[in-house]
Amino acid sequence: MFSNAEIGIDLGTANILVYTKSKGIVLNEPSVVAIDMETKNVVAVGSEAKEMVGKTPQNIVPIRPLKDGVIADYDVTAQMLKEILKKVSKVAGLSMRKPTVVVCTPSGSTSVERRAIHNAVKSYGAKEVHLIEEPVAAAIGSDLPVDEPVANVIVDIGGGTSEVGIISFGGVVSCRSVRTGGDKMDEEIIQYIRKNYNILIGERTAENVKMEIGFALIDHDELSMDIRGRDMVSGLPRTITITSTEVQEAIKESLEAILETIRTTLENCPPELSGDIVDHGVTLTGGGALLKGMQKWLADEISVPVHLAPNPLESVAIGTGRALKMINKLQKAAK
Ligand code: ADP
Ligand code: MG
Repeated sequence: MFSNAEIGIDLGTANILVYTKSKGIVLNEPSVVAIDMETKNVVAVGSEAKEMVGKTPQNIVPIRPLKDGVIADYDVTAQMLKEILKKVSKVAGLSMRKPTVVVCTPSGSTSVERRAIHNAVKSYGAKEVHLIEEPVAAAIGSDLPVDEPVANVIVDIGGGTSEVGIISFGGVVSCRSVRTGGDKMDEEIIQYIRKNYNILIGERTAENVKMEIGFALIDHDELSMDIRGRDMVSGLPRTITITSTEVQEAIKESLEAILETIRTTLENCPPELSGDIVDHGVTLTGGGALLKGMQKWLADEISVPVHLAPNPLESVAIGTGRALKMINKLQKAAK
C-alpha cells in the first residue's frame, strides 16, 4: 500500500504555513503574491514577493489577497495556493499525488469563500479536502485539551484579524473575531510618525519598529530605535529616534479593541464554563502574542491567568496537522 501525502495548511492573513505528517512544518512564508499587471501572471509568491513590497516597478504589484481576513481576490488566492502547493512538493520531495489536505481558513470567511478555497485545493489534485475552523486548529496546536468538557479559551492575534474562541468537547462554544491585529498596529505606527514627525515610513519599517520596541500597555524600561523615512516637507531621507513609549501610544487603539473582544467573549460565556476559565485561564497565540508585555497586560486587565502558546506563529499549522490524525481516527472508527 502506498500511503498518500497528508498536508495541513494554515491560510493566514499574514503567513501561510504548510505541515506534513512526515516532516512537520515544510513551508512558512508570507501570504503575498506579486502580479504582473500587464500579463496578469504571478511572478512571485511568499518571501520573494514580500521582498518586493514598496520596491517594485509599476507593472509588478505585490498583493496580500487575505489581508483583512476576508478573501479580497479569489483568483489571486487560488493562484497563491497552487504556487504554494507546488513549492511544497519541491521542498518536501513529497509525492503530491492525491494528498489529503486540511485547510484552516480565516474565521469570518463566508461559505462562498470557503468553497473557493476548497475548489482551489481540490483542483490541484487533492483526494480529500477538509476545512477546519481557526480557533479549533489554534487550540489543538496550542496543546489545549479540546476534547474534554472544559472551557478552553484561545486568543489568536494574527495580522489582519484577531479571534477569541471558547472550545469545549471538540466544538466551538462561542467565537468572536475583530478585524484588528498586527497589520493595524503597523498602520498606526505609520500614522503616528507621519503626524508627529512629518515623516513617511514604509510598512516593513513599521513592522520592525513594532517587533523591536513595541510593548503592550504595561510599565517597562523604555527602549528606543533609529528609523529612516522620507521627510514630507523636504522630500529627503531622514533618520529619527523613536521610543517604546511613543509606540505604545501609537498602537493603543488596536490593543484596546483586542482587549474589548476578549472581555465581551468572556462575559457572554455560559456560566458553567466561567468557572473553568478562572481555573484554566486563557491561552494566547498568533504572531501578535509575541508583542512584548502582551501576556502580562492581558492578565492584569482580565484578571484570569493568561498563558502563552508554545509556538505562537505555528500553533494553527500544527493544529491542522493534528486534526488530520483525528479525522483519520474518526474515519477508521466509522469503517
Ligand atoms: P496570520 O495568522 O493572520 O497569518 P500570524 O499569526 O502569522 O498572522 O501573525 C502575524 C502578525 O504577527 C504580523 O502582524 C506580525 O507583524 C506579528 N508579529 C510577529 N512576530 C511578532 C513579534 N515578535 N512582536 C510583535 N508582533 C509580531
Ligand atoms: Mg493565524
